[in-house]
Amino acid sequence: MSSQTLVGSLGGVALGPEDTGYDAARSGVQRAYLHRPSVVARVGGVADVQLTVRRAAQHGLAVAVQATGHGLNVPTEGGVLIDTSRMAEVRVDPASRTAWAAAGTRWEQVIDAAGEHGLAPLSGSSPDVGVVGYTLSGGLGLLSRGFGYAADHVRRVDLVTADGEIRSVTPGEDLFWALRGGGGNFGVVTGLEFGLFPVDRLYGGGLYFDTRHVPAVLRAYREWTATVPDAMSSSIGLIPMPDAPGVPAPLRGRHLAHVRIAYLGTLQDGERLVAPLRALGPRLVDTLGEMPFTATGTIHNEPKQPRNFYCANAMLSEFDASIPDAVLDLVGPGSGVFAVVQFNHLGAALAGQPEVENAVGHRGASHVLRVVTLPQGPDRDTAHEVAHGVTRAAAAWTLGRSPNFVQGDQKAYEQTRECYEPAAFDRLAALKAVHDPGNMFRCNVNIPPVGDSEHKLRRGTGCG
Ligand SMILES: Cc1cc2nc3c(=O)[nH]c(=O)nc-3n(C[C@H](O)[C@H](O)[C@H](O)COP(=O)(O)OP(=O)(O)OC[C@H]3O[C@@H](n4cnc5c(N)ncnc54)[C@H](O)[C@@H]3O)c2cc1C
Repeated sequence: MSSQTLVGSLGGVALGPEDTGYDAARSGVQRAYLHRPSVVARVGGVADVQLTVRRAAQHGLAVAVQATGHGLNVPTEGGVLIDTSRMAEVRVDPASRTAWAAAGTRWEQVIDAAGEHGLAPLSGSSPDVGVVGYTLSGGLGLLSRGFGYAADHVRRVDLVTADGEIRSVTPGEDLFWALRGGGGNFGVVTGLEFGLFPVDRLYGGGLYFDTRHVPAVLRAYREWTATVPDAMSSSIGLIPMPDAPGVPAPLRGRHLAHVRIAYLGTLQDGERLVAPLRALGPRLVDTLGEMPFTATGTIHNEPKQPRNFYCANAMLSEFDASIPDAVLDLVGPGSGVFAVVQFNHLGAALAGQPEVENAVGHRGASHVLRVVTLPQGPDRDTAHEVAHGVTRAAAAWTLGRSPNFVQGDQKAYEQTRECYEPAAFDRLAALKAVHDPGNMFRCNVNIPPVGDSEHKLRRGTGCG
C-alpha cells in the first residue's frame, strides 16, 4: 500500500514524504536523528489518535510518537509517526491540586497554569520538555528529592492501546503500574492527570565556576550532597561552553562547573546550605536567590533550539570518591574531548515507593550520571563511544540506567533491561505481551513482549 493511500485514509491529518510540511512535522528538537515515517499523523484529538492506530494496525506498521523530540532514540523508518504537538492543553483543578495535560503539552504550559493557583508540578530542568514522554519514563523533577518522581503522582492515564481502544487507566489495574515508568511501550497516551504541590516560591538558581575550579568544585559537590536535607535538590553540570557570540560574555569559551539548586525552604536556610559551595571560589555568575516556581527554567537555562545530541547515563549506587577524577581525566578541561557531564543528586523521596507502586527502577540510586555528546556528520560513533566511555568509568557503582536519559540511541533497546529491576522487567514484558503482542509501539526504549525471543528490532526489521 502506498503512503498516499494511507495518508488519504487518515482524513486530512496526515502527510506523506511528498507532501509540503512533512519535514517540519517529523522534526523535533533532536536533529542528529530524524524519524522517516511513511506517514506523519498530526493528530488534533483522541479520535485522530484512535483512527491512526487502527490504520497502522491494519497495515502492520510500527507506531512512533513525538511531542517535542527531546527523547527521540529509535526513529521510525517507514512506520507511522503520531505528532502530538497540536494536542497541547492543560486544565488545573486547584481544589484537588491536580492537573490534566494532553499528549502534546510542554511543562511550560503546566508551570504557568498551576502557578496561577500557587501550585507547582514535578517538572524538570527544561520547561520545553513534553509532560507525557517525561512522566511515562519516570520524570526526575527539580523538586523530586522532596516529592518523588513525576510518575509517582500520576492519577489517571488516558490512552489508545494497540487494539485501537480508548482507555482511561486508574489505580488497581496492572496497566496503571506499567504505564508509570514503562515509557511509550503500552499505547499512545492522549492525556495524563497528576498531582500538583503547594510551592509558589523557592530558593534556587545556579553557581557558575570557571575552568580552573572545575576539579575542586566537582569533588566538593560530591561531598556536599551527602550533607544536605531532603528539601535540597541539586545537580552539577560540567559544560564546555562554545566561544560563540550567542553565549553570555562571562561564560563564553570556558569549561564551566555549573551547580544548580532548587531548595524548598527559606532564603536564610538556603544561603546557609550553599555557603560551603560559594566558599570554593569566585563565581563567574551567581543567580541564587528566592524565585517564583514559574521562573525555574532559569535554574538550568537549557537551550531551546533544535540541535544534535546523544545522551548516555548511569544510575549510581554511590558517588564514589574516585569518580570525579576518572571523569575529568576522560572529558574534563584540557582533555580535548567534548562532553557535557552532569550528576543529579537523587535519594530522599526518590528512594521510596509511591502509595501506588509503579515500574520506575533503581530507587536505591544516590546520583545519576548523564553524559551528553554532540554527534556530527557521519562520524557519530565517536560521540556515542565518548558518552559510554564516561559511564563505564563508573561501572563498578552502576545499578542500571534511567530510560529518560537514553537519548539519540538508535539501539536503545539494548539498554532496556538495565532500565528496570529484573522482576519489574519480567512483569513489563508479560504485560506487553497482553497489551501489545505485535510490538506496535517499539520505536522507543523497547520492552519486547514476553515470548518474542527474537526481538523485532534485533532481527533488523527495525522500527518500520
Ligand atoms: C534538554 C533536556 C532536558 C531534560 N531534563 C529532564 C529532567 O530534568 N528530568 C527528566 O526526567 N528528564 C529530562 N529529560 C529527558 C526527557 O524527559 C525525555 O527525553 C522525554 O522522553 C522527553 O519527552 P518529550 O515528549 O519531550 O520527547 P519526545 O521525543 O517527543 O518523546 C519521547 C518519547 O516519549 C514517548 N512518548 C511521548 N509522548 C507520548 C505519548 N503521548 N504516548 C506514548 N508515548 C509517548 C515516546 O516513546 C517518545 O519516543 C530532558 C531532556 C532534554 C533533551
